Amino acid sequence: MKLLILGNGQLGQMLAQSSIQLGHECLLINTRTNQVMPAGAHVALSLSIENAMQWADVVSWEHEQLNPEHVALAAAKLLTDADKIRPLTHRQLEKKLCDSLGIATAPWQAFNTADEFQQAMQKWQQAVVIKAAFGGYDGKSQWRWAVGDDIDALIATAGHQPGIIEAMIPFTREVSIVGARARDGRILCYPLVENVHRNGILSHTFAGYEAVPEHLQTAAEEAFKAITEHLGYVGTLAIEFFVVGEGDNAQLLVNEIAPRVHNSGHWSLTGCNASQFDLHIRSLTNMPFPELAIQPTLMVNAIGCEQIPSELWQSSITSAFWYGKDSRPGRKVGHVNFRIADRAAAERTSEHFTAALQVLS
Ligand code: ADP
Ligand code: MG
Repeated sequence: MKLLILGNGQLGQMLAQSSIQLGHECLLINTRTNQVMPAGAHVALSLSIENAMQWADVVSWEHEQLNPEHVALAAAKLLTDADKIRPLTHRQLEKKLCDSLGIATAPWQAFNTADEFQQAMQKWQQAVVIKAAFGGYDGKSQWRWAVGDDIDALIATAGHQPGIIEAMIPFTREVSIVGARARDGRILCYPLVENVHRNGILSHTFAGYEAVPEHLQTAAEEAFKAITEHLGYVGTLAIEFFVVGEGDNAQLLVNEIAPRVHNSGHWSLTGCNASQFDLHIRSLTNMPFPELAIQPTLMVNAIGCEQIPSELWQSSITSAFWYGKDSRPGRKVGHVNFRIADRAAAERTSEHFTAALQVLS
């Protein structure tokens, strides 16, 4: 089939690689310049977006912030209704969606003006995170407040645009489920992976280690099914959760839903016989899903560094990925997958290499 991806960043490139491997053709749109690009090169083709849309059998995206003009041009070639995805780009609507589906999240409250913000803040008797309704990523457009802190000082930053106030959750860990739903409704999810954030940015992911309690895997897959079926979603999707409590009493609270391939699924590029990118392409083209064979993998993000240290390009246990982007503090520029069977050893490796690979600010 012929696939057109809206977006030619690293996620678009990795989707294109999977398309090629699975026997499809793929073009990408640079959504900033509106140019049509081949995979793997930043050189524009002399093809209009309209012509590229006509060429394609299926249009998909690397990121859910969609340009309405692209949506209008793609029409029925987008297998998921873009209107249904819009709530996931707005934190108030995303929370309402979870509430309406009976899926637990952190307690929250909406505000739309500075006055509403100020009034709402008076009621909170516990630490909160304030998040702008749109546009936040990698911990940006978020502010923290604890009882006793000055509220007025936050009005000019946190309170000047619509947003939500959310209880600060004392989580025991953060996990995510990444899975895919095909055109015919088949669903396949990876086991939950554990994510560690630094400064609100995903630092590293442990995948395929000790089994997460079965009831959490079941709950995560139920949430995945409820959300993707409600959205009529086709492709790979990720849900981030906070785990509260321990053992049999542990529970999941949804933090964020990403209707796309996700950084916490990058381990699967080398830790599984089918990556999250493969599952996305298989979903769009209605190919079969494989039985999953998973190898314990630590994924460490390269953030704001100038290059991945050469030892990580040379080791037999690593697979390094460099995105070819300009580096600046806090920007994701690559990642390294480590094949390490033992969880304690993976922890030590993550401690060692986050220092070498991450410049956060
Ligand atoms: P982003 O879009 O930047 O990923 P998130 O809402 O996922 O935004 O927040 C980034 C990180 O900040 C989370 O993964 C978590 O570590 C921390 N965080 C966000 N909200 C809360 C919360 N309510 N309680 C505790 N930690 C939070
Ligand atoms: Mg997040």
